[in-house]
Amino acid sequence: LLLAYDPARRLARMQVGMERALVNARMIYELLDLEPQQGDAPGAAEAKITRGEVRFNNVSFGYVAGAPVLQDLSFVAAAGKMTAIVGASGAGKSTLVALLQRFYDVDAGSIEVDGQDILEITKQSLRSSIAYVSQQPYLFEGSIRDNIRYGRLSASDAEIELAAQQAEADGFIRQQPQGYDTPVGEGGLTLSGGQRQRLSIARAIVRQAPILLLDEATSALDNEAEARVQQALTQIMAGRTTIVIAHRLSTVVNADHIIVLEQGRLVEQGTHASLMADPHSVYARFHRVQGNKGLGLVDDGKPIQTLLR
Ligand code: ADP
Ligand code: MG
Repeated sequence: LLLAYDPARRLARMQVGMERALVNARMIYELLDLEPQQGDAPGAAEAKITRGEVRFNNVSFGYVAGAPVLQDLSFVAAAGKMTAIVGASGAGKSTLVALLQRFYDVDAGSIEVDGQDILEITKQSLRSSIAYVSQQPYLFEGSIRDNIRYGRLSASDAEIELAAQQAEADGFIRQQPQGYDTPVGEGGLTLSGGQRQRLSIARAIVRQAPILLLDEATSALDNEAEARVQQALTQIMAGRTTIVIAHRLSTVVNADHIIVLEQGRLVEQGTHASLMADPHSVYARFHRVQGNKGLGLVDDGKPIQTLLR
């Protein structure tokens, strides 16, 4: 599958156009599934992931010894449902999503996908069952078509265009001088935040993975782009296990299950209605906070209330 496209040679040739300085070479290899079996347990099996149920069992983790970031975290993200993670900046939301993709490994406890400990399956097979839409999507130097194809290197042109339609990206792509062959990235066409995000969603759609990890972004988008991105996301969430780091109140309210993190610990979980039923809950307090002060669900600088339209 990978051989047909020879991504390693391609990668060597291409100048990597980073959208943000944060993206390092390792992340790109991970994105492209190129990382060798490094870090796989001896005899690691190919994952059999169909339903996409995710289970954290008493997970603890810290980037450095003595500074735990997640502590004794247990929850289930049910197959085919939407689980929203909420919590203030620094609570450990992105770390949780990184652990599930094995960018880092747990210090204690375990993470299971469809009942398989992710340490006992190959990273490649784990990651091929996960699509990840990050908050800051990056584009590589290459055509728009190539940039979508990175989701699954065997995707046909027809599949790429269908994904772009579903991601509400087909319209702006066709308006470009060379359509899907228009170069983007460094030296190429400059895309808006909303357009980049929609390409990133198209990339996630062609991946056809049972698990979808979503870091909602709102700060970069204007109102219209945000509405379009939201539509696109709703499309791909259907039937997939979705774990969303939620910034929009509308997402949180509609989630099947909500996990509230505070300083690396799960402090509450439930539905919007069940969490609001207790006026003293951390979650209910989030909703009462006004402005930028206090405990609001601030991540990209916006308290969640301001995102409700
Ligand atoms: P959130 O996504 O909820 O804002 P993060 O998971 O990004 O929180 O971060 C949780 C904590 O871990 C923070 O204190 C953050 O500074 C720390 N942290 C995040 N990434 C790293 C890293 N690569 N190295 C060291 N510390 C990190
Ligand atoms: Mg984060």
